[in-house]
Amino acid sequence: ATPTALLVGTGRGAQLGILIKGPEALESTRRVDTVVLDKTGTVTSGRMALAAIRPAPGQDPDELLQLAAAVEAASEHPIAEAIAAEAGDPLAVRDFTSFAGLGVRGEAAGKTVLVGRLALLEREGWTIPAEVAATADEQEAAGRTAIVAGWDGQARGVLAVADAVKPTSRDAVTGLRRLGLTPILLTGDNERVARAVAAEVGIDEVIAEVLPAEKVAVIERLQKSGKVVAMAGDGVNDAAALAQADLGLAMGTGTDVAIESADLTLVRGDLTVAVDAIRLSRRTLRIIQ
Ligand code: ADP
Ligand code: MG
Repeated sequence: ATPTALLVGTGRGAQLGILIKGPEALESTRRVDTVVLDKTGTVTSGRMALAAIRPAPGQDPDELLQLAAAVEAASEHPIAEAIAAEAGDPLAVRDFTSFAGLGVRGEAAGKTVLVGRLALLEREGWTIPAEVAATADEQEAAGRTAIVAGWDGQARGVLAVADAVKPTSRDAVTGLRRLGLTPILLTGDNERVARAVAAEVGIDEVIAEVLPAEKVAVIERLQKSGKVVAMAGDGVNDAAALAQADLGLAMGTGTDVAIESADLTLVRGDLTVAVDAIRLSRRTLRIIQ
């Protein structure tokens, strides 16, 4: 009866918009007690928009935007797309470098340009005018992600970006709780933005400012503490964590590498389907055993 029950399970999954990689994928779901949710692109739409341009005193807002956009045009991060979209035809860029979870660097208009977290510019030893730090702080307090841009060794202003929570995310969190699961929000973004999003969808526990390479360590740590962990994510950054989790759930709207690393794919990228997926696999396993 086992193969039939599994086929019924996976067939029903397809109807709900869940692609199941293999029957083994379902094994651990019954014991899952913790669901780690990536923020950007999973709980939120991932479609960032530029919400504010705040040059430091004496800096030109258009120059700030054009130089930042020139470098971001070479990046595929949702933040980069929001900034590049606002600027029109980008200036040429050379020597592009991407620092995962931190930002980007490149040469544009004869200048070395850095764009990303304040921590990236600090790490590179750049001068941060007090006004820029204060503006970044203000924007983060308003729940936006503050992207600092600068050139030639100095921060020149802040570009604030934001995206919206998916309309289904709050219901999904409620559904996960009803199944007895504890949701945790995991992100590389700053703590305050993470808290604002968590509050909006009803999550209490937040793990923020995690570098992409450290997401997998967060999953391992939870597992070592005795948790059985499901993880939902969409990004290149999430792939290793999705593979490490007892149950990896990829957004069908996400990157190929996330989908390849996961056990299940939520075709439409709707988290309420994750609730269906866990319920379905528990039920399927009950039939088998
Ligand atoms: P998440 O876990 O929310 O998907 P990431 O790990 O991709 O976030 O990025 C974490 C942070 O690093 C971003 O919030 C941003 O501050 C910074 N960052 C990453 N990539 C870029 C980029 N291309 N341009 C500017 N900032 C970036
Ligand atoms: Mg993401």
